Amino acid sequence: MNIAFLGLGAIGRPMAARIAAAGLPLAVWNRTTERAAEFARESGARHAATPADAARGADVVITCLPTSREVHQILEAPDGLLAGMSKGMVLVDCTSGDPATSRVIRDALAARGIDFIDAPVSGGTTGAQKGTLTVMVGGDVSVLDRVRPVLETFGQKIVHCGDVGAGDAVKAVNNALLATHILAAAEGLAALVKLGVDPKIALDVINASSGRSNTSMNLFPERVLTRAFPRTFRLALLEKDVGIAADVARDARVPAPVLQLTADLFRIARGELGEIADHVEAVKMIEQWAGVEIA
Ligand code: NDP
Repeated sequence: MNIAFLGLGAIGRPMAARIAAAGLPLAVWNRTTERAAEFARESGARHAATPADAARGADVVITCLPTSREVHQILEAPDGLLAGMSKGMVLVDCTSGDPATSRVIRDALAARGIDFIDAPVSGGTTGAQKGTLTVMVGGDVSVLDRVRPVLETFGQKIVHCGDVGAGDAVKAVNNALLATHILAAAEGLAALVKLGVDPKIALDVINASSGRSNTSMNLFPERVLTRAFPRTFRLALLEKDVGIAADVARDARVPAPVLQLTADLFRIARGELGEIADHVEAVKMIEQWAGVEIA
């Protein structure tokens, strides 16, 4: 199976590296050319000059871009994916996208006999390196089955969630939970620090109790208490995800004040902390409001 991979960002690059390491023929394209050139030198992949060039001759085309908007753009652009894709191919979009745009993309491709699945991932950059990502898929099961061997190069748990857009929706809700946990943990721990409680002790208790989460068990001990704040997943992307979750709830006519408020708080954090801040740095905003450091 010939693969094309577009978008060698923080998560896309290690995913593409897993495909190359599995020995599948791979062509890569990235907006910043030097990143694709460097990746091609290291992995032996073919460096394609344009999205169309990457897609030509591929059986499966994989995109991993910030939002569905960029995926739609590189589909339709001159020298874009549509110029290189033909009947019988599959587009697998690993972007954490939005269901409505994924359905528009599905329809544009279906008119040309090209299949589409949304297949966002979870598990972070470390999970991508290890090949242990969870992949949430929306679309036809028969299409998923055709591309499953490719997804298995970087994914450990591959789950069919429903029709096109269902993968995006599940991913957005998952990340909205991550976002609420980060804010709630920061507020609670900031208050405890002000009361004189050592945050290490507070987390030790919480992590043996019912309030624990990946945020309390891993993110706070490894990234907040240490003040390391490594940049692995941009806050701007989590802000986008919570916004999608809030939109999903609104479209389903489900009252969701917690999701809406979390989306607004992450919008504020994005404005204050900027486009390259890591998602866990949202804690710094709460610390600033509280006037303490959780350390
Ligand atoms: P990054 O910001 O690190 O990388 C974004 C990628 O998209 C880069 O390759 C960038 O190219 C490219 N890009 C940006 N804008 C455009 C554009 N207008 N046209 C073409 N290419 C563009 O993002 P991540 O790799 O972290 O995330 C990618 C997706 O995966 C997002 O939807 C994110 O929510 C999701 N995700 C990320 C995780 C993580 O831990 N990082 C975990 C799970 C999901 P260039 O090199 O030129 O900037």
